[in-house]
Amino acid sequence: MTSERVYLAVFVQYFMRKAKVKTLENTIPQSLIETMKKQKYHFVGKHSSVKRCRWLYETLIHNRPCYKQKFYGIKTHQCIQMTPATFYCTQRCLFCWRAQSGDLQIKWNEMKFPKWDPPEEIVEGSIKAQLAILSGYKGNPKTNQQKLREALTPKHAAISLTGEPTLYEHIGELIQAFHRRGFTTFLVSNGTMPEVLAKLSEEPTQLYISVCAPNESTYKRVCRPQIPKAWERLNETLSLLPSFKCPTVIRITLVRGLNMENVEEYAKLIEKANPTYVEPKAYMHVGFSRLRLSYDNMPSYTEIREFAAKLSEEIDYNIINESEDSRVVLLSKLEKAIKFGNS
Ligand code: SF4
Repeated sequence: MTSERVYLAVFVQYFMRKAKVKTLENTIPQSLIETMKKQKYHFVGKHSSVKRCRWLYETLIHNRPCYKQKFYGIKTHQCIQMTPATFYCTQRCLFCWRAQSGDLQIKWNEMKFPKWDPPEEIVEGSIKAQLAILSGYKGNPKTNQQKLREALTPKHAAISLTGEPTLYEHIGELIQAFHRRGFTTFLVSNGTMPEVLAKLSEEPTQLYISVCAPNESTYKRVCRPQIPKAWERLNETLSLLPSFKCPTVIRITLVRGLNMENVEEYAKLIEKANPTYVEPKAYMHVGFSRLRLSYDNMPSYTEIREFAAKLSEEIDYNIINESEDSRVVLLSKLEKAIKFGNS
């Protein structure tokens, strides 16, 4: 090869690498992307990602499904855990497992959004990423082969991995795109974007709103909002919740020493929202939350059970299911949860 050709080849390679980096990251630091890839995040387009849920491994190898299968009939091995807003959120919750700006000295603006990718591309990319994750199980002699075959046709999207999904401009259309492919969807939101939820072009199969503080001062300390009037905005969402046709859930992530008091104030918020379910669930000491909290902040299952029992005394909801492994309890006015048999 002549020296000009070598020079050209090096230039093209450099240019291609640069172009790829730009497509993926936009304004996101490369060091963050690399760290997240090491944690097995699969990036889809500029701002979406898929990650293998711990329970996918548990169900394929040890036949132990996640609590969503037990509570709602969602098959763990056919579930994609994804987000369209990997790097963006209106809150910086202490208990969150996602990387937040400032963690590991890596900084970016979590409220400066990229040019959003189209929903169809995100759905297709997410399914491809899930299939890539599953390919790792083919050669494992411990894999349940029947389940693996079924897993190759995913049927549920948990839109919840990291970030606030309602920041994604086309969230309703994303839900729609999943539904068109026969998926069920669970959307998990922190409730700070009531105007987006009010105008969703399509409701998810089930809508979760996280309420992780009983009052504004705890909210500010634990959820560390990055936008003005976030507590008021969350409360607006709670008032909006009865207008949804789909089942709704108030998720309370409980952190020992931070937000497990004032059950009666939680009860007032729940009464306002009148959700189909309430899910008190233990904080898990995983991911980047380990930089902010200690192992001792993780409540035991007994503590979650006690919290749920107190809550049940305050509101007209009964404990209808529970999962000790996931440290979560399900409360409802219904006798049994609605199941989505997507087999
Ligand atoms: S709202 Fe969700 S994604 Fe955002 S910081 Fe809190 S737990 Fe993390």
